[in-house]
Amino acid sequence: MRVLVLTGAGVSAESGIPTFRGKDGYWRNLDPAKLATPEAFASDPKLVWEWYRERRQRIRNAQPNAAHEAIAKLATHAEEFLLVTQNVDDLHARSGIEKENMVQIHGDIFVTLCSRCHFSYRERDRESPEIPRCPECEALMRPGVVWFGEQLSRNELEPIENFLDGGVCDVVIVAGTTATFGYIIDWAIRASRGGGELIEVNPEETPLSQFAARLVREPAAIALPRIVDTIVNS
Ligand SMILES: [Zn+2]
Repeated sequence: MRVLVLTGAGVSAESGIPTFRGKDGYWRNLDPAKLATPEAFASDPKLVWEWYRERRQRIRNAQPNAAHEAIAKLATHAEEFLLVTQNVDDLHARSGIEKENMVQIHGDIFVTLCSRCHFSYRERDRESPEIPRCPECEALMRPGVVWFGEQLSRNELEPIENFLDGGVCDVVIVAGTTATFGYIIDWAIRASRGGGELIEVNPEETPLSQFAARLVREPAAIALPRIVDTIVNS
């Protein structure tokens, strides 16, 4: 069986990681959609780092939920499996998904990256000084995530393209995302074209809904364990 799973913030929300949308996403009355931008970093890098440090700490303290566990179970069951997540946290990895079966298209919050050259490091259990400077070129370092208005990294796109070129999926699950990025919809449609079942798990309708064979209007942590059990036992 060939399976593609696409996830978004809704999957981590039940682990206590706030989404960018709605009032829970606000931080010190600031809109995350404005903080997660190159412009915000250019004008106030200290503020942006404070926000990311709080997010990092929240993620360190969080635990994977039933949705992460169900996806990890499905990964074990499928012959070919790819998870594409928009989440920058490490909850999928901590639920047991192997690195080679997963792509974090919006980056990894624990990576600190030079804003000028390509120098980077990962800091899962420690933190750099307030505003870290690159040891190679002295420029300011930034969180290794894809901000609004930035391109996806080619390194992350390649494994997705390869997986999509490898044949049609039997099952495509899109969970916990409002599918506002066109590429999520494109990948889901491409992967299921030619007979695969496209399942959307999201409490609300999204731009993807019209293309899905099955709509499950529930939170991912409620719906996914049931859906995965049905697939694994069939
Ligand atoms: Zn540098």
